[in-house]
Amino acid sequence: MTYFPINYNEPLFRPPAEANSLIFQITLGCSWNKCAFCEMYTSKQFKVKKEEEIIGEIKNAASNYPDVRRIFLADGNAMVLSTNKLKKILQAINEAFPKVGRISAYALPKDISSKSMDDLVELRNMGLKLIYVGIESGDDEVLNLVNKGETFHSTVEGLLKAREAGIKNSVMILNGLGGKKYSRQHAINSAKILNEIQPEYASTLVLSFPYGIERFKQRFAGEYVPMNVLELIKEMEIFIENTELKGTIYRSNHASNYLVLKGTLSRDKHKLLKQISEVLGNPQTANLREEWERGL
Ligand code: SF4
Repeated sequence: MTYFPINYNEPLFRPPAEANSLIFQITLGCSWNKCAFCEMYTSKQFKVKKEEEIIGEIKNAASNYPDVRRIFLADGNAMVLSTNKLKKILQAINEAFPKVGRISAYALPKDISSKSMDDLVELRNMGLKLIYVGIESGDDEVLNLVNKGETFHSTVEGLLKAREAGIKNSVMILNGLGGKKYSRQHAINSAKILNEIQPEYASTLVLSFPYGIERFKQRFAGEYVPMNVLELIKEMEIFIENTELKGTIYRSNHASNYLVLKGTLSRDKHKLLKQISEVLGNPQTANLREEWERGL
C-alpha cells in the first residue's frame, strides 16, 4: 500500500483545475452549510483544524513531496479563518515548499469582504493567488430561494475586493438552479453579475440532486419546476447571449454538464452560441450525455 502523509477527513472536494494540487484541509466542512442545493458537507460539522495539526501535516507532506508547486486549501471556505491564522499557514507552506507557485482556496464573498484590503494584499503576497467562488446565480430572488446567504451586491463587492488585492477569481454558476419558473431571470442576472466582476475563470455546472429531487424541493423556498435537458441548454444560451466579458476563460466541462462548452468570452461567444443553437435545432445528433434522452 502506498503511504500518503495526510489523513483526509472525507468527503474531500476540490475544483477540477486542482486535480494535480496537493490539498491541505485547514477547515472541515462549510461554515455556512445551508444552501438548499448543496450536499457537499451536510455530513460534517464545521470545524477549524488545530494549527499544530495543520503545520504538522505541511511539514510531513513536504518531507515526502518537497517539489510541490500548487496547493489547494480545503474544505468549503478556508477563507473564513482569521488573517493571522491564514498567514501562519501560508508561511509554513512557503517554508516547507520552496517551489510553490500558487495557493488557492474556496471562498465565500462575505469572507473576503470581512478582510481588510491590506490583509488581502498580504495573503496574496504570501502566495494566495486564486479563489474559487460558487456564485450560483446573479439573481437575488433565486439566491434567496436557495438560501445562499449572499446577494448580487455582496458577491460583487467581495470579488472585486479580491481582484483589487491581486487575487484571481474563478467562479461557478449553477445551470437550472431556479427551475423553469425562474430560468430566464437566473440566466440574465447570472450573466450580469459576471459582467460586473469580469472573473478570470468561469464555469457552469448543472444542478443535481444527490439525495433526490424531493429533498431539494423541500429546501427550495418557492415553487421549483424541474427542467429538461433542452430547457437547461436554452438557459445556457440566454446566459451566454447576455455576457459581456473581456477575456474570461469559460468551461462547462464538469461531469454534471450535458453539453461541453469551452472558450474565452467574449472572443468565442458566437462560436459557443452557434454550438448551442445547433444542439437546440437538432438535439438527436448532439453529443449529449445519455441521460439527456430521459429529460426530452
Ligand atoms: S457555501 Fe458552498 S459549500 Fe457551503 S453550503 Fe453553500 S454551496 Fe455548499
